[in-house]
Amino acid sequence: MNEPQNEWIDICQLSDIVPDTGVCALLDENRQVALFRLSHQDRVYAIGNHDPASGANVLSRGIIGDLQGERVVASPIYKHHYSLSTGRCLENPDLMVPAYQVQVSDGRVLVEKTAKKSLMATPKLRTEKPRLVLVGNGLAGMRMLEDLLEMAPDLYDIEVFGAEPHGNYNRILLSPVLSGDKSLHDIILHDAAWYQERHIRFHAGDSIVRIDRHRHQVVAASGYTTTYNRLVLATGSEPIMIPLEGINLEGVTAFRNLGDMNTMLTAAKQYTNAVVIGGGLLGLEAAHGLSRQGMKVTVIHLMDRLMDRQLDQEAANMLRSALEQRGITIRLHAETEKILGNSRVTSVRLKDGCEIPADLVVMATGIRPNIALAQSAGLHCERGLVVNDIMQTFDPRIFAVGECVQHRGVTYGLVEPLWGHAFVCASQLAERGSIRYQGAHMATQLKVSGIDVFSAGDLKSSQDTDDLIVRDTKRGIYKRLILNNNRIQGAVLYGDTRDGSWYSELIQDKTDISAYRNRLLFGQDFSLKRAS
Ligand SMILES: Cc1cc2nc3c(=O)[nH]c(=O)nc-3n(C[C@H](O)[C@H](O)[C@H](O)COP(=O)(O)OP(=O)(O)OC[C@H]3O[C@@H](n4cnc5c(N)ncnc54)[C@H](O)[C@@H]3O)c2cc1C
Repeated sequence: MNEPQNEWIDICQLSDIVPDTGVCALLDENRQVALFRLSHQDRVYAIGNHDPASGANVLSRGIIGDLQGERVVASPIYKHHYSLSTGRCLENPDLMVPAYQVQVSDGRVLVEKTAKKSLMATPKLRTEKPRLVLVGNGLAGMRMLEDLLEMAPDLYDIEVFGAEPHGNYNRILLSPVLSGDKSLHDIILHDAAWYQERHIRFHAGDSIVRIDRHRHQVVAASGYTTTYNRLVLATGSEPIMIPLEGINLEGVTAFRNLGDMNTMLTAAKQYTNAVVIGGGLLGLEAAHGLSRQGMKVTVIHLMDRLMDRQLDQEAANMLRSALEQRGITIRLHAETEKILGNSRVTSVRLKDGCEIPADLVVMATGIRPNIALAQSAGLHCERGLVVNDIMQTFDPRIFAVGECVQHRGVTYGLVEPLWGHAFVCASQLAERGSIRYQGAHMATQLKVSGIDVFSAGDLKSSQDTDDLIVRDTKRGIYKRLILNNNRIQGAVLYGDTRDGSWYSELIQDKTDISAYRNRLLFGQDFSLKRAS
């Protein structure tokens, strides 16, 4: 029987390939080949460019060498070695890339169109679903999972690990639960049954303590180990606990999770005095909640005004007096020196020598991305775990979403931008990924019932900015819009925050507001009705 004629594809001049390096070329519309030229033999090898271990087209960028007498290329991602003549992976017999015949004729490099038959990789039949592991069942991770299940309900075999001993709850609403405005039941988003109904294996209260990127495995604190094809890290943030003397005393807590909230509620039942260190959003919500639970609360804040990163002096003053009217003591320009007590906290001493009685101390002095796990796995981290515009870390199998992430140099501490993380990541995992995350700006709303405060954008004034201000002292309303070149740069609203989200959109979209500038402060309905 006659063998069919070989079909050769003319790729390039031999001199186009620098000796001892690789280049990538297209064999046809769908196939990339990696070509490697060895200087001492003047020989060229061709194998598929797609690295099956990482799922990325990268082999042409690998380093060539000699392993156990075999010419190989090391994948730049996982360092698996592939034989240049057979395409087999030296470390994992299940992995293989196609290898092609190459000839050099009249200085041109020709590659045979069909891969070598005897050695052609037989793609493994997908008998099992790929395995997706999610670490962290907080707001961002679980939103990503919801989006993914909507886009591709049956694509993955899914396993979820959560460090906290319960299903997913709405962390934002811990404040209204603390103040008694909502019940615990109101804030549960996904209970154990939710996971079960979707055949998701859920490990509550079992933290992942190690990622073995080489074996594609995660190891939990319990010792349980599982394998992933795709891994999503959504480990959130951790509260910054200032290392003051007395920080480890009983009765000193952060305000981050359900456990912290229970500590606060239990203390409120038994004790009288609470001190909250930090007069930002979280500290004030804790103070309000504890005050509503009957405690005598003092807020200690280092700066000259409350919520100094979100409010200007006037709005901050209004907020201060509203909180003071509710019986909360505010100490500005106050720095904590130490926390006093024997086994349980009894007071807090300030640097000016003043001592404030305290049976409970809530430290609300900021958060930082929780990246210890990612760092220990050698993933590139700066302030947060660094991801690209498709929420992929430097390891292409590993994605990340939420507050643990650093995207284009930015880390986030509010939930709105995280929905974008979740959607982009889910669409990648659903193999529909064409959208990219571009970053987002943040708006803040304080959740203290009866006190409406909103802030968004940049409040800094300069010679290029103008302020539009409404001040209605009797009704307790203050609104300030900072304009720059007929665009809203920032907004602070106190007392009437109904148009907050509209201003927020105008800031984000950099909308030219000249058509309704004189009505802007009166809100969306009035402004747009008259403008149209
Ligand atoms: C009291 C409070 C009020 C807030 N109010 C607002 C608000 O009004 N508006 C707003 O926009 N934002 C608010 N936030 C912030 C908002 O809650 C966060 O932006 C959001 O929860 C971040 O989501 P995340 O999924 O990144 O992290 P998280 O929701 O913190 O979830 C991360 C989860 O990962 C788990 N985890 C960590 N490490 C591991 C591990 N190794 N293994 C397994 N699991 C792990 C953690 O236990 C946690 O459950 C508030 C936060 C708090 C605490």
